[in-house]
Amino acid sequence: MHHEGMSKPLILLDQDGPLADFDAAIHEVLADLGHDPAMLVATEWDYTNDVTRHFGPEAAAALDLARLSPGFFRHLPVTPGAQEAVEHLLDAGCEVAVCTAPSLANPTCASDKLWWIERHFPALSERVIITIDKTWVHGDVLVDDKPVVTGALAPTWSHLRFASKGTEHLDDGREIDDWSQWRAVLDLVGVPQLAAVA
Ligand SMILES: [Mg+2]
Repeated sequence: MHHEGMSKPLILLDQDGPLADFDAAIHEVLADLGHDPAMLVATEWDYTNDVTRHFGPEAAAALDLARLSPGFFRHLPVTPGAQEAVEHLLDAGCEVAVCTAPSLANPTCASDKLWWIERHFPALSERVIITIDKTWVHGDVLVDDKPVVTGALAPTWSHLRFASKGTEHLDDGREIDDWSQWRAVLDLVGVPQLAAVA
């Protein structure tokens, strides 16, 4: 698992979900419209249809508008425990980088994401990889909330799924619920002396 020639395991962290609490921002939009986000049951990764079914097409349209608005990605809250988890991984001797796919439909998404990492994760500010295809990026572990991460190449990393709203219907036990389970990253890297440090 740990690649020859690299001194440290490389952990890639997806931005929306594991680092930035995208779901919380979506829930805030729904709450502002007078809806109770707790009522929403997501049955698919893109739960726009579920929003329409529960709260009506206006709510779904409001979410689309929010996601496409310049600045949306600047104002996302930090996922609980993410800053501490990054510190733990760095302390344990891992290389950590952000690996994120931009929303091409939002004109300021990519620059907002860079700004956001600099503000909330300054240690990672020069370690952000923005790519439309994460299989192009080399690494040992990719922590990502997407159900399946595919692309043009066979990935070098193992995918560790981070729980999010869009996978709550997948009861397959193949994800970590939150960052209290950050040690699962070290387990995947399979470097015992690193795990011992933690
Ligand atoms: Mg994500």
